[in-house]
Amino acid sequence: MVQFVKCKVCGYVIKESKLGDLCPACGVKKSAFEPYEPTISEKRMKILEFHIHPILVHFPQGFIPFILGISILVAILNEPIQTYFLMALRILSVALPFVLVAALSAGILDGKIRFKSITTPMLKQKIMVGSTAIILSILLAVSAFLIDSNSLEILWSITLSLILLGCSVFLGYVGGHLTCSVRVGK
Ligand SMILES: [Zn+2]
Repeated sequence: MVQFVKCKVCGYVIKESKLGDLCPACGVKKSAFEPYEPTISEKRMKILEFHIHPILVHFPQGFIPFILGISILVAILNEPIQTYFLMALRILSVALPFVLVAALSAGILDGKIRFKSITTPMLKQKIMVGSTAIILSILLAVSAFLIDSNSLEILWSITLSLILLGCSVFLGYVGGHLTCSVRVGK
C-alpha cells in the first residue's frame, strides 16, 4: 500500500517514496512531515488531480472580457475597420454559448466528484448563475447579428457582456472558496 505523508507547515501531501530533503511546496525540512491517511479514495483523488475545472471553466470565461472590449471598439470605430471587429464579435459571440455549456458541464462534474452532491447551497448558486449566463450568452449571440454599422444595438451587446462579466466574477468568487475543499469519505 502507498504511504502518504503531510507537511505540518503547509499541508502539502506527497507519497513518502517521493519525498526528498525538503517540502517541495514550502521548503521546510523533511522532519516537518507526518504520516497521512488519505480521506478520499484514490480514484476520486486522481480525477480531482486532473484539474478539469480551471482548464475547462476559466478558459471559456476569458471570452467574456474580449467580447466586451470588441463591442466597445465596434461602438467607437468607423468603417472600414469597424467591419472587422464586428466580424470578430460575431464569431466570439456565437462560440460563447457552446463553451459556456461545456464549462457548466465540467463544473457540475467537478462538484459531483468533489462534494458527492450538486445540491449544496453554494453549488446550487453556481449552477443557477451559470445557467443564467448561458441564456444571456444566447441573447448576446443573437444581438451580435442584429448590429449594423450605425445602430444602437451595440449598446445592448455592451450591456449583456457587462452582466456576463458580473456573472463570471461571481462564479469565480464563490469558486475561489470551493477549490480547496473536498468532502471526505472514500
Ligand atoms: Zn510544506
